[in-house]
Amino acid sequence: MIWLFDYDLTLYGADERNVLDSLDERISKSVQNATGVDYETAHQIRKDYLQRFGTTLAGLQAMHGVKPDDFFDFIHQPEFLQYPKASPAKRNLIMGLEGHRFVFTNGRRDWSEAGMEHMGVRDCFEDVFDLKQMDWVGKPHESAYDKVEAYLAKRVPEEFFMNGMPANPSHIVLLEDSVRNLEPAHRRGWTTILVNPIPDVPSWVNFYVPSLLHLTTILPELVTHNS
Ligand SMILES: [Mg+2]
Repeated sequence: MIWLFDYDLTLYGADERNVLDSLDERISKSVQNATGVDYETAHQIRKDYLQRFGTTLAGLQAMHGVKPDDFFDFIHQPEFLQYPKASPAKRNLIMGLEGHRFVFTNGRRDWSEAGMEHMGVRDCFEDVFDLKQMDWVGKPHESAYDKVEAYLAKRVPEEFFMNGMPANPSHIVLLEDSVRNLEPAHRRGWTTILVNPIPDVPSWVNFYVPSLLHLTTILPELVTHNS
């Protein structure tokens, strides 16, 4: 099995939303810097960018020529940020998942790596596949999934892939808090797990857990599903 974990609000959950909120504040600040508006207006601009471009970064790139690495260098300054708490329980759980484990995140790798360091789970994963490796076009764009498959084909033992395609796509398991990001994964035949306290479970979700620590409750069924 190849396990792909989203980072924000999946690896650390909705109960630690403050982590994402701290980043969010910096993102609004970066919009302020690029546009010269006040904080309130920056918030409105972000909403508009989300609508029109999918992400704040995409809006900043298109409208203000902001370079992605400059954007992330600014928002990732640690003195402004909060990180998830240490979680030995999550560590045990993840370590118990047999196969190859990676983080697949729409952030830049330094953000998830710092968080995983705080959680004590960094060594649970072989690597992080981040937004930069997706050429700054993240999930749910098809290209993000194409790129992670191409990357995995080089990283995992060759029996998992045949002519560059997953030999058995259901052996790629994606854990995500975003239902939107699970849909393209499902179309590829990957196994999809929604990790979200809100049980809004569309047809493309194979398994649902309210939080990561509930994963143990579905593991027996998941193993049957994949055999
Ligand atoms: Mg997420």
